[in-house]
Formats: sequence, structure tokens, C-alpha cells
Amino acid sequence: EEDLARLPDIDPKALSITKTTTPKLIVPPEELIFGRNFTDHMLTIEWTASQGWLAPRITPYQNFSLDPATCVFHYGFECFEGMKAYKNSEGQVRLFRPDKNMARFNKSSTRIALPSFSGAALIELISKFCAMEERFVPAGKGYSLYLRPTMIGTQRTLGVGPPGSALLFLIASPVGPYYPTGFKAVSLEATDYAVRAWPGGVGNMKLGANYAPCIAPQLQAAKRGFHQNLWLFGEEEYVTEVGTMNLFAAIRDKETGKKVLMTAPLDGTILEGVIRDSVLDLARERLAPEGWEVSERKFTMKELADAADDGRMLEIFGTGTAAVVSPVRRIGWKGRLVECGLREDQEVGEITKRMKDWIEGIQCGDEEHPWSIEV
Ligand code: PMP
Repeated sequence: EEDLARLPDIDPKALSITKTTTPKLIVPPEELIFGRNFTDHMLTIEWTASQGWLAPRITPYQNFSLDPATCVFHYGFECFEGMKAYKNSEGQVRLFRPDKNMARFNKSSTRIALPSFSGAALIELISKFCAMEERFVPAGKGYSLYLRPTMIGTQRTLGVGPPGSALLFLIASPVGPYYPTGFKAVSLEATDYAVRAWPGGVGNMKLGANYAPCIAPQLQAAKRGFHQNLWLFGEEEYVTEVGTMNLFAAIRDKETGKKVLMTAPLDGTILEGVIRDSVLDLARERLAPEGWEVSERKFTMKELADAADDGRMLEIFGTGTAAVVSPVRRIGWKGRLVECGLREDQEVGEITKRMKDWIEGIQCGDEEHPWSIEV
């Protein structure tokens, strides 16, 4: 362990840049499809167990060439992050709480025996990359450059063990608003036949291996007319997350009648969402003074159904980097539909809308806030 500690960390000063000779055309903002188009360049940083992190490189966006025996193809040595760069009205490019993504990235990588790294050093390189790709960062509310830092094990071996080499890379994709024509409330299927995460598992890490198994249940839900899975856990049917978002429920408390905004606690079965954390902070700062109780606690599907039955249901929404917030209309559960507080003619609840406005205002720099970092 002492030897590992002395190995070189990521060194932004060692960066080499090779610019593309065939710059891409910019896709018109209204034609952007999530994750389809990529910028001119990519960032790569190799690591070896004997040399530590090697010199970072920015090169033209290109294919990898990897031996078929590379461990990532066999044992799932892959983790990633999802974050965004935003352009403010003056054309300045900004990141939103990148330190949070770096902390989570390190937690994910070390859980699968891949190396850790200095988050500050990678933020410096990501900033440099974003500045270089500035023309790909679309301006305007809801527009951003989606950033995908990824780490894979690259050792060429079928032996199951800690990878002796790894590759950290970053690609970037310009994206438009999640709801181009305004909010569209979604319906969820409370999923009791498949489990996304469990205590002591890795559901709180951003491992690629957590995502592939969720697609078949999503297709099942879609077949029955639901947009996403609401992931439950245990015989109690605790509400955990929705699709690839954290979940918030606003209800009136049965005993006190007080308005409560609640989300599941970080007990190892929940991804530590950056937007989740931001919603909690903003709720404590801006909703608590209005009489809201803000609570990280376990709650069950039955509690939500009871709230709906008693007229105590206010609103439900998902949170994540992609959409910021996603309003929920109803939840299919045990053969019934639990209505989530929206009128038929309404696509978004009041708290959901206010949260989106607050967070987007900070992300694009309309509101000066320490969460928004200029690159
Ligand atoms: N849960 C899961 C399973 C996710 O994949 C994501 C997206 N990273 C989230 C929640 C939301 O996290 P964030 O707010 O950091 O985007």
C-alpha cells in the first residue's frame, strides 16, 4: 500500500494536445439527440500498477484498439460519471458541483479495484477540455454539454484479479432539454419482481454493471404502458429510486398535517445523486422556512398509496443530471394506479417546478452560487 501511495497521481501539467484536422459541423440545437453526437476530441489518461497515472492526452475523438482478452470485456471493470458543462448568457462555460462527481467516481473505481486519482486534477483537465470544445457547448436554458468520464480495466488477461492497467477517458456530447416541449409527467411501474440494489451491494456506485440488468425490466414496464421502473426493496416495499433517477415525494404527514418532502436515505441501495443532494440543500434552505419538513428517511409504497387515498399526496418527482427533475403522474402498484397529486391538465407540481428553476438558474450562472464553477 505504501508503494501505491507514492505512485504519480494525474498531472494536468503533463497534458499533451493533438488537435483534430477534420473539425465536425455543429449540429443545430433543435436536432440534438441525447448521446448521439460527440465533440472533436477526447481525453485519455492511462494508468499502470507499476507507474501510476501517465501523462494525460487530448486527441481527436477516435476508436480504441483493445485485445479481446482485455478484462473490461469479461468481468465488468467499468465505472463512469455523468455531468454537464453549461454556457451562461455571456458565453462563459461552467461546471456544476464537479467535486461531487469526482468523489463518486473515486468511490466507484476503488470498489472494483481500479485506481483512485486526484479529483482536483481531473477537474482541471475537464475544464481545459471544455474550454477547448467551447463551440460544442450549446447556449440557453436546458442546453448543455454532457460529459462522460469513464474508467475501464485494460489488462489483457482472463484471470480474475485486480487489473494491472486501466484507462480513464472522457468523451462529451452536446444535449438539448430533456423536455423540449415542456414538462411531461411520467407513469411508473412499482417493480417487485426485480431488485436494482441491496444492502451490502454496489447499487450506490456508478458501475456499468448496474445498468444493463435494468433494461429488461424497463422493457417489461414499457410493455404494460409505463415509462420507468420504480425500484422497491424488501418485503416492506421500500421506495428506493426511479429508472436512473433519485425519487422525492411530497406528502402531508398523517399525524401532524405538516408538508414533508422526503427521499430515501443513503443506506447503500441508493445512488448518491448530485441533484438529490442539491434538492435537499435547497429544500432545507428555501422550503423549510415556508413550513416544509425535509426528510431523508425510508418510506414504503404503501405509505405513498395511503397518502394518495387520504388526499395527502402533493407531488412526486425524480431527480438526475439528465432532466434535473422529472414529474411523476401515477404509479402502477399491485394492480392499481396510485395518483401522484397532479390534475389531469397539469404536467408538473409546484415544488418540482421551483426546484428545476432554482437548479437550472444556478447551473447556467443566472444565479451566482458556489456550486457553479467557471472552467
Ligand atoms: N440514480 C441512478 C441509478 C443514476 O444512474 C443517476 C444518474 N447518475 C441518479 C440516480 C441521479 O444522479 P445525479 O443527480 O448525480 O445525476
